[in-house]
Amino acid sequence: HQVVIDRAPILRSAQIAKIPLGLKRIPKRVVVTGGAGFVGSHLVDRLMERGDSVIVVDNFFTGRKENVMHHFGNPRFELLRHDVVEPILLEVDQIYHLACPASPVHYKFNPVKTIKTNVVGTLNMLGLAKRVGARFLLTSTSEVYGDPLEHPQKEEYWGNVNPIGVRSCYDEGKRTAETLTMDYHRGASVEVRIARIFNTYGPRMCIDDGRVVSNFVAQALRKEPMTVYGDGKQTRSFQYVSDLVEGLMRLMESEHVGPFNLGNPGEFTMLELAEVVKDTIDPKARIEFHKNTEDDPHMRKPDISKAKALLGWEPKVPLRDGLPLMVEDFQQRIFGDHSSASL
Ligand code: NAD
Ligand code: UDP
Ligand code: UDP
Repeated sequence: HQVVIDRAPILRSAQIAKIPLGLKRIPKRVVVTGGAGFVGSHLVDRLMERGDSVIVVDNFFTGRKENVMHHFGNPRFELLRHDVVEPILLEVDQIYHLACPASPVHYKFNPVKTIKTNVVGTLNMLGLAKRVGARFLLTSTSEVYGDPLEHPQKEEYWGNVNPIGVRSCYDEGKRTAETLTMDYHRGASVEVRIARIFNTYGPRMCIDDGRVVSNFVAQALRKEPMTVYGDGKQTRSFQYVSDLVEGLMRLMESEHVGPFNLGNPGEFTMLELAEVVKDTIDPKARIEFHKNTEDDPHMRKPDISKAKALLGWEPKVPLRDGLPLMVEDFQQRIFGDHSSASL
């Protein structure tokens, strides 16, 4: 019952690596699972820009066609409605595996489906990578550190994760995805890369996805109070999406497996974040305290020395510069074009 999508000859990464510097780069065939989502669609833009052929595989659970429709009609672009929990046959050089809901509201909506996506979905993409000899990159998460007892978090830290909690479908799902990735690497010699992504924000985030930056921005724009959960003293580190995409591409092209933390080390309490949103959107914006959710990590901040040293990567966009770019996009979607204001 597997669908054969394409059997064109592939350009192997190994061949590409042998091209002398200065010669024109041979375009690659790249799959981006979850490519119609927030991060995926920005990655797709960069891959298209550098001349690659891109296949987006997405089931549109949280992704939207609007995020990639500017590429419709380009013969190098293909959009497939497909659930990664089902096997798929493609012929490609690289697989960026992003498919998985990222917002706690979305990943808790159907926890068993989240686990299947992380485990069976990742297994399928690794099986695909093994069959065609493609390089595979997993977008893991800072959530693998759970409610961390070490601060900031280094890649060597094994984490403090509740295996039976309401966030476990995501945390443990991603931890298993990392395990599978390393076992295909060790056992089947698949070329793999692992990125552990810290909280990322930017244009094209779902407006009502429940994540803190999108919530505060949408609330302040709509003149509603910003909902601070708990006492608001928990911390997160917020990365602008273009910095993340640069990190993911550098990692894919590098010779390092990882895992690598990709995040902005600038750390903010939720109350401080609310202040930045106030300064950016509306000095009169109010906050409202709400009961916190279960197992909410108290603090999170990446140690990015490894990515700095081995990938030559570090984030460039501070929160106060990145936030206005997201606000512009939200303003447009909430007030400008009413047809795309909802999910
Ligand atoms: P998103 O929800 O916007 O994108 C996820 C995409 O995957 C969506 O387009 C969705 O429709 C698709 N998808 C979900 N389940 C699928 C399935 N079974 N089959 C096919 N497609 C499926 O989220 P995002 O913020 O863009 O996150 C992308 C990746 O980065 C995720 O793997 C996430 O875990 C990881 N990540 C993101 C952040 C962040 O702050 N944005 C932080 C850590 C990790
Ligand atoms: N798979 C896939 N596309 C491929 C190759 C494999 O979706 O091009 C799936 C396959 O259906 C299986 C999984 O990936 O469910 C793991 O494949 P692998 O060959 O590693 O394991 P096996 O099929 O031997 O269990
Ligand atoms: N949070 C908040 N108000 C909101 C949404 C979230 O105060 O409207 C808090 C949440 O309790 C957590 C932090 O913001 O401490 C980040 O939550 P988010 O869902 O964005 O991502 P997480 O890092 O928890 O996956």
